[in-house]
Amino acid sequence: MARVARRSPLSPKGSSNASSEAAGKVDRSPPSAAARALQKMGLRTDWDLALHLPLRYEDHTRLTALADARDRQAIQFEAMVVAVEVSQRPRRQLRVTVDDGTDRCVLRFMVFYPSHQATLVVGARVRVRGDLHVSIWGLEMVHPSFTPAGGPLPQTLTPVYPATAGLPQAYLRKAVASGLHRALQHWTETVPDDFLRKIDAQRFYGMASSLLFLHNPPADADLVALQDRHHPAWGRLKVDELLAQQLAQCLSRRERDRLCAPVLAAAPDGHAPSVSLMQDFLKVLPFGLTAAQQRAVAEIQNDLARTRPMHRLLQGDVGAGKTVVAALAACVCMDAGWQCALMAPTEILANQHFTKLVGWLGPVLAARGQSVAWLTGSQKKKDRTEMLARIASGQAALVVGTHALIQEQVQFARLGLAVIDEQHRFGVAQRLALRDKLAGHGPAGTLAREPHLLMMTATPIPRTLAMSYYADLDVSTLDELPPGRTPVVTRVVSDERRDDVIGRIAAQVANGRQVYWVCPLIDEQADPDGEAHADSLLPAPSGPGKAGARAAGREALALRNVTATHAELSAALPDVRVALLHSRLPATDKQQVMEAFAKGETGVLVSTTVIEVGVDVPNASLMVIEHAERFGLSQLHQLRGRVGRGAAASACVLLYSPPLSPTGRERLKAMARTADGFEIARIDLALRGPGEFLGARQSGDAMLRFADLSSDEDLLEWARAVAPAMLDDYPDEARLHMDRWLGNRSDFLKA
Ligand code: ADP
Ligand code: MG
Repeated sequence: MARVARRSPLSPKGSSNASSEAAGKVDRSPPSAAARALQKMGLRTDWDLALHLPLRYEDHTRLTALADARDRQAIQFEAMVVAVEVSQRPRRQLRVTVDDGTDRCVLRFMVFYPSHQATLVVGARVRVRGDLHVSIWGLEMVHPSFTPAGGPLPQTLTPVYPATAGLPQAYLRKAVASGLHRALQHWTETVPDDFLRKIDAQRFYGMASSLLFLHNPPADADLVALQDRHHPAWGRLKVDELLAQQLAQCLSRRERDRLCAPVLAAAPDGHAPSVSLMQDFLKVLPFGLTAAQQRAVAEIQNDLARTRPMHRLLQGDVGAGKTVVAALAACVCMDAGWQCALMAPTEILANQHFTKLVGWLGPVLAARGQSVAWLTGSQKKKDRTEMLARIASGQAALVVGTHALIQEQVQFARLGLAVIDEQHRFGVAQRLALRDKLAGHGPAGTLAREPHLLMMTATPIPRTLAMSYYADLDVSTLDELPPGRTPVVTRVVSDERRDDVIGRIAAQVANGRQVYWVCPLIDEQADPDGEAHADSLLPAPSGPGKAGARAAGREALALRNVTATHAELSAALPDVRVALLHSRLPATDKQQVMEAFAKGETGVLVSTTVIEVGVDVPNASLMVIEHAERFGLSQLHQLRGRVGRGAAASACVLLYSPPLSPTGRERLKAMARTADGFEIARIDLALRGPGEFLGARQSGDAMLRFADLSSDEDLLEWARAVAPAMLDDYPDEARLHMDRWLGNRSDFLKA
């Protein structure tokens, strides 16, 4: 039973006193279980506890007269017990009638213990807290908490903390209060005063006042401002957190300045071959580069010619033509006599890149006695062994693959450039692992310790995110699409009009066009984007966990699955070849299905989101997305980007199952309204937070907990400005500050 804290648990006196008070509670819920639950929540240090902030607050600071209370109001009152009865009907329960002089109230307990009956005896005065129900039969409270009446009321609001099963609020409150108390005792200021003075003083309190306020605000606190985090009590946490993040970014940038990468430029030292791959490639390319592509290539070339490892993000909306830019960067690297690795998140995409690159570069490389190697998780052992040998000898100048590239056995002879396509689909650890492929393996006699790194993404990164998480990156942006594209027309259509949509498919196919039909899940157990880690070598990331998977499973029962849709379309369109693609198919089948579709042999491809990223079949002109309301906006944008790649007018149909929630409708309408990836990314950032951009599954640790990039841009600007000065002038404080806020997570901010 939760008891009213007698004193603010935050005053040092309250803390020490409260510990004896709490001892009884600890006995009732075995301390080991609750302590284990604390650990499981990641609340290990005093600082962890101090930063475990309330979800909401309860007001235990005053008493309300029963006569003044409203229905459903959460109130606290003191009253005298006037009747106690254990009734058996409708079920066994304890009914206690209390009277506060203004009205009577019945307290009902379906579960009760002898201790209840010991306190709740006729004539006793009790303090009761709970939700009041007012009905024609009078006032009632079900399972209220109660203590003997009297004693001082708390001066501050009572926090309700995020908890888990086996972790009672009373125990948690106690633990947080004492953790906070100790944390503040040992806390030293790390942020220099003259830096803090640059922020409007109205915006934040000192650290101690901030934390004390957030855990136990006064009864008259502005709860709305606390809730939406505009209250100055939040300011200092945001300031410190953003500063820690910027310090880590700045530091990793400086560390990179000291590292050495191979100089990838056609040097006159005999390394450069007489034939330039780059020139040959430009000759076979069936189109000219856009101005944006030329600019990006020049920026990359410039980086590659330096010993400082390149760390560049190439962002460009879907269809902007990033692959060609990557291929040209690979040429520069190979022309300088080094190997290039290209890693893609799915086998389908890696395969497509491989086919394209072999087509473009295969003959020229062969003439030089070199080749393009191919590595995936599903490869036959014999092929794999052969590929590994070619990579280790350097005979494979270009290596294309999935996560298999970062496996331990993969040893490059001279890795000069690593390209990561659709980088947001990879975890931080995976990106770091690819970068580490050169470390220690640089050829003897060179100083090279790091390959250059080029990351590509079609999920444009809003400015604030670029400034925070990607502060260590240089960015090239493809801000124009190749000429001759017709915009994709997007329609939001109810599933009730499914037959019309199927009719439209028939018309498209009759005109020689092809169609994608995307469904959310394979069947009740499927992971909607299982493909992303289907061939991962790393343990499946701890995401939402089993509970999440079960929930997804339940949801999926209600969804049309991809197999059923395939059958439905096959039946409805007897003259059309309808293919099926999902992540559970064996890799060779996937490959065959994709190849047949790319060649135009199949008219309709019914697929899960395995085709989400990168897939490029210019003849496809209609994209139908079933249960569009279940997808994130950036994901819809990616899917939509699979069409509109050729000259034909293309369309995207967002099918939804009515009824659609107002926000759901808003989101789909936004999709139909704009084709601008940046605009969509901004909407997505506002709706879903930064996870979509960062590959949340693996980098959740690097997330901001307190600051909000959409509303704290000015604080971010401040942190960015002061971080370099702090590293220079206050290195010890900077180190302490990063340790406190990031601990061992600072590594995760580097990639
Ligand atoms: P993304 O940026 O989404 O990865 P891709 O690299 O797959 O885009 O390119 C999309 C399509 O545009 C491909 O078919 C590609 O060959 C073509 N393409 C790329 N650059 C140009 C260009 N400058 N002119 C015409 N077509 C281009
Ligand atoms: Mg691509």
